[in-house]
Amino acid sequence: MSQGTLFVVSAPSGAGKTSLVRELVESLDGIQVSISHTTRARREGEVDGVNYHFVEVTEFEAMIERGEFFEYARVFDNYYGTSRPAVQAALAAGQDVILEIDWQGARQVRQQLPEAVSVFILPPSREELERRLSGRGTDEHAVIERRMRDAVSEMSHHDEYDYLVINDDFTTALAELRALVVSHRLTRQRAGATHAPLLQALLA
Ligand code: 5GP
Repeated sequence: MSQGTLFVVSAPSGAGKTSLVRELVESLDGIQVSISHTTRARREGEVDGVNYHFVEVTEFEAMIERGEFFEYARVFDNYYGTSRPAVQAALAAGQDVILEIDWQGARQVRQQLPEAVSVFILPPSREELERRLSGRGTDEHAVIERRMRDAVSEMSHHDEYDYLVINDDFTTALAELRALVVSHRLTRQRAGATHAPLLQALLA
């Protein structure tokens, strides 16, 4: 069996990354999203073990000490990290794995696994991003400005990624992400390993 591919997906808040990734894994077999650990508070509707593994700071720091994270970072005053054993097991079983992480984590992944494929998702315009970050229009101006600054800071790292996807039309962006995953399954290295018995028979 061939080893799965690790995909790193980053985006500023408001780019629609989580919805796109959710649809992507629902529309393709053999691909899963890694569930991160975080110390941030659970938001309404989030489920422990589904959206994140919600842990205390002391537990997170103990995991850092034990070297259990493949990558981790502080993002907006909270810790976020990817468990190493979970990702390694899935890749070894031939599953493709998606990490939805920030640019700091993406850098750590590239250093450890240069063959990982990284994708940055961008909003279609500054105005649209601002609109998406304004929520239901109830948030204060200063809060929205802060979100915009954070988004611009994240987007400034887009040039460290292999692929860029613009999320203007959701269906188009989803099709582009799917194409990316499928094309990586067709690389000679990956398809050659998957179809080793076929190649052997054809060349006999
Ligand atoms: P949120 O709190 O809105 O769910 O996520 C905030 C940010 O943390 C997002 O940019 C998200 O990509 C990032 N993030 C989520 N999980 C991880 C992780 O495991 N590692 C890193 N480095 N960033 C993460």
